[in-house]
This record gives sequence, structure tokens and C-alpha cells, in this order.
Amino acid sequence: MIIAMKSGAPTEEIERLCQEMTSRGFTPEKIVGSHKVVIGLVGETRSLDPDAIQDASPWIEKVLRVEKPFKRVSREFHHGEASEVKVPTPNGVITIGEHHPVVVVAGPCSVENEAMIIETALRVKAAGASFLRGGAYKPRTSPYDFQGHGESGLELLAAAREASGLGIITEVMDAADLDKIAAVADVVQVGARNMQNFSLLKRVGAQDKPVLLKRGMAATIDDWLMAAEYVMSEGNTNVILCERGIRTFDRQYLRNTIDLAVIPVLRTLTHLPIMIDPSHGTGWSSYVPSMAKAAIAAGTDSLMIEVHPNPSKALSDGPQSLTPDQFDQLMKELSVFGHAMGRWLEPISEDSHTSLMA
Ligand code: PEP
Ligand code: MN
Repeated sequence: MIIAMKSGAPTEEIERLCQEMTSRGFTPEKIVGSHKVVIGLVGETRSLDPDAIQDASPWIEKVLRVEKPFKRVSREFHHGEASEVKVPTPNGVITIGEHHPVVVVAGPCSVENEAMIIETALRVKAAGASFLRGGAYKPRTSPYDFQGHGESGLELLAAAREASGLGIITEVMDAADLDKIAAVADVVQVGARNMQNFSLLKRVGAQDKPVLLKRGMAATIDDWLMAAEYVMSEGNTNVILCERGIRTFDRQYLRNTIDLAVIPVLRTLTHLPIMIDPSHGTGWSSYVPSMAKAAIAAGTDSLMIEVHPNPSKALSDGPQSLTPDQFDQLMKELSVFGHAMGRWLEPISEDSHTSLMA
């Protein structure tokens, strides 16, 4: 249930109403927009009569029932407006959201050694990325594959952050590692395989770092949004939704099927910012550029792209990783699409159009 207050509603009246709702056994949540305040009511609201609530204050504009299972995540809960996630990094605050330039996250699948992570960080930074990604704890299908360097990998990420000024995004697989990961990461990633690990979702929801929630490979949009609701229900409102491809029937040519239609769908359902990962979404580096461009054209707020200095030697996800040179080229091309959408920070470089037509 949502109580939309009239504009200019006095703060005391809003507080009084919140207290009244608390005494009726609900958990009111105040969301202050640029013009109006909305009070979201969480709890067993099914038996509530919207008309009876309407009468509780002359300052109530309307009372709406949220039919969706997700509440805090829903667009209505945020005045129908987009929210944004602001991430402080050494290079300044990076804002991810619908009314901001597209933010690019790049880096290797796994942190392998100091030289490669620093080199990658400096190269992707120079090309225009705002965040370095890299796994220290890797969710591998086989227990015999490289599992990530764990804590020492985190130290290498901290060194790369220091050297480049980039924000760090890295995955947490086990709640036991969360504190040490959150000490290094600017954004904590929950991977596709853990999207419905509800105890992990609650733990990341109860800490302060923004959360990047990847879509499970067999998750419906409702499953995914309910997972985000778990995070938000613990108090952390800084959630970014990352589409990384879902399982369909063809695995011969593509690792996953990247679902770009989620971009307009999520816009109607949720206020949360959107990220698209065309690397895991396709599984092949040669398909990454076209899907990255399509994602920008479809209105994504951010992109995650795997980049490795030597993809053929990568310890994980080499086939889908771009070289730093390829990433550099891609960023030039993306700038044309970003500008067309009015969502690119850097000016278009001189050779961007020519390289697109080449
Ligand atoms: C990753 O980002 O390297 C990763 C393992 O992603 P996903 O959880 O989407 O498979
Ligand atoms: Mn990967």
C-alpha cells in the first residue's frame, strides 16, 4: 500500500500519519521526492481499506494498492521515478541511474596476479571505464577449476584501486567473507548462482556498500526483483540490477541468451538502475560489441565488460574477454551510441564514427 501525500504536506502531519500507521501494526517508510512525499506501508496490508486510510488525513492525495509482490523495489514506491546509486570512489562519486551518463565497469573475470590487474585497471581507466571488476572468489562450475585467489586477490584489487583511482566491484559468494570483501569493494556483487541465496541477500542488505545483483540464469523477472526486495528489506536501498543472460535451448553458439528486453520491462516495474553484462550474456568476445551498443540504445544505465590483457591465457572466461585494445576501440564506438542517447560523459573522439563504419 502506498500513501501519496499532497505537495506541501506539513512534515508534522507526515510524521503523525507514520506514527498512526505504526500503531496500527504497519512499517511505514517515508520516501521524499523532489515535490512530494510518499509513504510506503509494508506488512499485511491486504485487509486494509484504502478509503479508511484516505480519511486519516486531509493531506493525503491518494492511496494505492501495490499489486506486485515486490514493494520497496517497485516503481510506485519511488513516486514512479527512477532512483540512482551514488558510489564514492577515489576518482569522485559515480552515479548510476536513468538520468545519468552510462557507467562502464570493466576488468578480468578473475584477479590473477598484480601485474595483470594493475595493467588492466590502467588500460580500462584510460579508455573511460569508471569501475574495475575482478573476482577474488570465483563461482566455478567445476571444483577443479581456478577458484580465485581469495583474500590475496582482494589485496591486489586494493592495489589496483590505489593505482588507478577506479571503484572496485567484486563478488561475494559466502557471507563469512563479506566483511573483508566490503572493506575493499566499492560495490559488492552477488552472482547469478547466488541470486536466490536468501541468507546472503539478507547479509548484503544489512551492510552499507551498494549491491550489484546479477540475474540468476533461470530466474524470472519477478524472482529477480524479489531477490532485490530481500536486499532492500534489510535496509540497503542501493541495489543495481545486472542482466547477464539466461539459459535457453541453444548453447551451441551462445553461452547464454542475453535478454535486452528486460531494460524497458524493468523501467515499468522498478526504480532501480540497470546494468547489462554482454560478456557473460553471449560468452564470446566477438559478440560483445554489438550487444553493448544495443544495450545502450535500449537505455541501459551501465555496462559490465570483461577485459583481460591476454584472453587466450585467462584462468577464467577468456573466450568472452576483450583485449585492452579491443576495449579501447569499443569505448570509442560506444561513445557514438551514448551521445545519441544523450548519456555519455566524454566527448566523441575524432575517429569514433570512422571506426564504426570501417
Ligand atoms: C562474473 O561476473 O564473473 C560471474 C561469475 O558472473 P555471473 O554470476 O553472472 O555468472
Ligand atoms: Mn566471468
